Amino acid sequence: MDAVTLAEKIMNEAKSFEIDGATYYIVEQDRKVEESHLLAYAEEILAAVNPATPPPAALERLVAATVDGKPIRWQLPVVLTWAVDKATFAGKPRELEMAKSICAQATADWNAAARENGIDDRVRFEQVGNNPVFRFAFAQFGDPNLYAVAFFPNDARTERVVNIGPATFVEPNDFDPVGVVRHELGHVLGFRHEHIRAEAQEGMNWWDKSNMEKWITGGLGAETLTDYDSQSVMHYPLNGRGTLDFQLSDADKAGFKKLYSLPSGSDEVREFPV
Ligand SMILES: [Zn+2]
Repeated sequence: MDAVTLAEKIMNEAKSFEIDGATYYIVEQDRKVEESHLLAYAEEILAAVNPATPPPAALERLVAATVDGKPIRWQLPVVLTWAVDKATFAGKPRELEMAKSICAQATADWNAAARENGIDDRVRFEQVGNNPVFRFAFAQFGDPNLYAVAFFPNDARTERVVNIGPATFVEPNDFDPVGVVRHELGHVLGFRHEHIRAEAQEGMNWWDKSNMEKWITGGLGAETLTDYDSQSVMHYPLNGRGTLDFQLSDADKAGFKKLYSLPSGSDEVREFPV
């Protein structure tokens, strides 16, 4: 398949949503690609499925996103400043209040994990009034099963938005809404889905398995940081595994510490500036 055909296939088959006249397509379950970036994304995917060097066969052990075979993270030390984009919540006062609360709680939970691990001088979240590194914005997703979408450290500055859809604000909710945001912040820090690991898919039927996000998707690869953890904040509830409240597990905290303790400027990690 060539990149143009693949980009068309994504346009035809992927879920999409619009913000400010721009169309975003959902790939890899909760990652978004703006329409004008689709072709570049398709080229990345095709390059990744036919890599010049095979990816490391590390299937046994939180999952870091990788670029060029190296785990990615922010350039340290980093303060990931954030704000809730109030304009996107126009006419939705209940959702706005709830967003302020769940985003504050979820960022505080990651900050507590950083403190516990002694890495809070290297990485932490902080709410600010203006010029944040990233925003939390409301998005009217058409799909009732789509809760929120995030970005990774290597995404363009214009893509640094965590979009939260109506499903997250439904009360009562099957999922813990704070947990939904904790999960999205895991992507923001550089973590991929725990359920892409082979262990998560044991016993799954071939059709569900074939529809799973792959170890290498787009320009991102994966590298395991800890043993498989069905209780991970990055694990969707599926195949009898995962949780509905998306707490930070001990393994999540250990993986967080491991990724953000790799020496800066070393060959072991690719860092991206805010
Ligand atoms: Zn996710």
